Amino acid sequence: MGATQEKLIVIAPATGKQIGEILETPISQVDSFYQNGKTAFLQWSNLDVSDRAKYLLKLKAIIVEQMEEIAKIIAEDTGKVVTEALVADIMPTLDGIDHIIKHGEKILQRQKVKTPILLIGKKSFIEYMPRGVVLIISPWNYPMQLAMIPMISALAAGNTVILKPSEVTPLVGKCIEDIFVKAGFPEGVVQVAHGSKEVGAAFTNGKPDYIFFTGSVRTGKIIQQVAAKDLIPTTLELGGKDPMIVFADAHLERAAKGAAWAAFTNSGQVCMSAERLYVEKNIYPQFLTLLKKEIMDLKQGTDVDSDVGSMTFRSQIQICKDQLDDALRKGARLETGLSPEKWENGMFLPLTVVTNVNHQMKIIQEESFGPLLPVIPFESEEEVISLANDTVYGLNASVWTKDKEKARRVASKLVSGAVVINDAIISIANHGLPFGGAKQSGIGRYHGDAGLRIFCHEKAIVEDNGRKKSEIHWYPYKEKYPLFLQLFKSYFQTKRDWVRFAQYYLRILKKN
Ligand code: ADP
Repeated sequence: MGATQEKLIVIAPATGKQIGEILETPISQVDSFYQNGKTAFLQWSNLDVSDRAKYLLKLKAIIVEQMEEIAKIIAEDTGKVVTEALVADIMPTLDGIDHIIKHGEKILQRQKVKTPILLIGKKSFIEYMPRGVVLIISPWNYPMQLAMIPMISALAAGNTVILKPSEVTPLVGKCIEDIFVKAGFPEGVVQVAHGSKEVGAAFTNGKPDYIFFTGSVRTGKIIQQVAAKDLIPTTLELGGKDPMIVFADAHLERAAKGAAWAAFTNSGQVCMSAERLYVEKNIYPQFLTLLKKEIMDLKQGTDVDSDVGSMTFRSQIQICKDQLDDALRKGARLETGLSPEKWENGMFLPLTVVTNVNHQMKIIQEESFGPLLPVIPFESEEEVISLANDTVYGLNASVWTKDKEKARRVASKLVSGAVVINDAIISIANHGLPFGGAKQSGIGRYHGDAGLRIFCHEKAIVEDNGRKKSEIHWYPYKEKYPLFLQLFKSYFQTKRDWVRFAQYYLRILKKN
């Protein structure tokens, strides 16, 4: 190996202990990664979907077998509690594999579509052709599922994959690489490039056939600009500032438990966590009391019974501090937690609820990605819809009420990639649903049928049996114009006149 390799020293965020070292992939290897990916694509793309699914089955078996070991690696590398590693990172990955094994073949097979009568005698199809080498750049908050779901989707569709996992959780990146090696994927089909954002940037510049990025809005915009130079298609899964709306007629105890979970799961480092809580005015004081009680009962720590783990990425703490400082300076009130100057230096942040906030504050407009929950009272349905839509984000939202009609009415008016009624976040757990954001929360969708098809060129095929000598729309045009006028009039009028249509069709045909 000619180039010297930098080492990533891995520190467990919750304990501060060194838990490993990972060698960075030298940037000089970018070209050979793409070359390997292209070579492997020739064979991999030629396999049937069902043959590719056999590799996914092996992958699944390994993950099931090593479930506890993997959960431990995820929990140590991120600081999240082990229950969340299992429930929110490993389980969705396994379920995603299952979904693809079950439905992949049908989603990717040639689809017959109707052919209009104007194209008489022909057949029409859509074909899904794999794109080539897909670059997947993944984040640190759910380091397994946010890398693995795009990977298995791209692979099932016939692409080869280069993964650049987050340098913040490199042990999970290594674990993913090991699982694929163990599952016996052919050489070059899956390659993992470890390292920092410079490695990510070098691979982005390496002209992949598709880029699937999950991360911050800031980095998403950089990647989109680089991709635009060569018109490389992308999917961008970015941030959120998700509203949770609680109406007076909701099951309030459930909503309070739901709010505590949706705001503080994974220490709030979730693109779809509840980051703004709107509560109908007439139950506001009562609801606040219920919410505070729920939060007081939560246990932060690292043991198996803990509810909330540590922050994963230290830089995130400063962002939360700034937002909370800004809010408190402008008159916000702490309902739970401490003011930032009293925060200890560690990675466990106080679970913080603030009231007396307004829509000009950073804590309402900017993604927190930490355990901060601002609460705002509202009076009417129209008002809360307009408040909920008043940020640059639109990833997920939740509406809490026992009135089904009202819930659906409000859900339809939210500018959001997903809305959950009387629960939060969990739309991502149904692999039959599309996942993605509106506005600056992203571009494109994955999961569901779209999740496999985005990794393909969607190809339209029209097939003629080739037995006729000519077509009516071919040359010569002589004397055809008035006949076409009549043909189209009979065809496009309110009630189609098939007799005249047939007459003019045959008369045009004779002119050929
Ligand atoms: P965060 O700041 O929360 O870590 P990022 O969006 O910066 O979120 O990181 C998500 C992923 O994007 C990581 O794998 C990171 O290494 C990668 N990344 C960061 N900057 C770039 C860049 N300029 N080009 C390509 N990848 C990048």
